[in-house]
Amino acid sequence: MTKPRSYQTEAFIIRKTKLGEADRILTLYTPHLGKIQGFAKGVRRPKSKLSGHLELLTHSQVTLARGKNIDTIIGSQTINGFLPLKSDLGLASYALYIIELVNQFTAEHVEDKSLFDLLIETMNWLCLDGNRDLLLRYFELHLLSKVGYRPQLEHCVLCQISLKSSTGYFCPSAGGILCPVCSRSRSSSYPVSINGLEVLRLLQKDILNAPGNLNINDSLSVELERIMKRYIKFLLEKDIKSAAWLEVLKLQSRKSRLSLL
Ligand SMILES: [Zn+2]
Repeated sequence: MTKPRSYQTEAFIIRKTKLGEADRILTLYTPHLGKIQGFAKGVRRPKSKLSGHLELLTHSQVTLARGKNIDTIIGSQTINGFLPLKSDLGLASYALYIIELVNQFTAEHVEDKSLFDLLIETMNWLCLDGNRDLLLRYFELHLLSKVGYRPQLEHCVLCQISLKSSTGYFCPSAGGILCPVCSRSRSSSYPVSINGLEVLRLLQKDILNAPGNLNINDSLSVELERIMKRYIKFLLEKDIKSAAWLEVLKLQSRKSRLSLL
């Protein structure tokens, strides 16, 4: 049986690339097709009917026509425009970091409905008040679990001793926590406080209905950010561009309009 010439899917727009005078290639994360590319013809023209439904950080229902090399987007209807994320520079920076992680850690055409749900859920939480740095840590931990890099936070990765009530040493190359003895054999490991470990475990276990509602002090927040950044950097073997950008934006007004989106 031949495939229909066109198909529909929900999609979250995670990347856009200019092409020619007025076109774009969009990267879409979808619930059942995983990450896909779509050709958006004429979408940069002011009168384009599609453009408003195909902005970054938009959840849309998209219709695509099958093509030889790439499918073409022929229709799109916004499901949720996530407008708060597009009108606040600070919020946008968090959201752009999240979609860059999704783009970096996923391959095309690998279905993961639970990752799509996590992405939408995180964007919804981001629009609400709460501790957004912790929300990023929550997203990072769950994303990594889904793509096969879940860090071991309960036992020493090497000797399996429980680290329930002691300081651990996070070792990116071992994929988790080491006890003080084993950490001596790994120069790349660095200490993690008892409280830091406890918060990471809480976030990883998914027992919080809204991770942004958990309150921690600034120094603990900085510690958790460093742990996750070093681990992600090790996994990707490069800095995430948006992470550096996030640092810059944190220093700027969060009320500015974002014209980039
Ligand atoms: Zn050990």
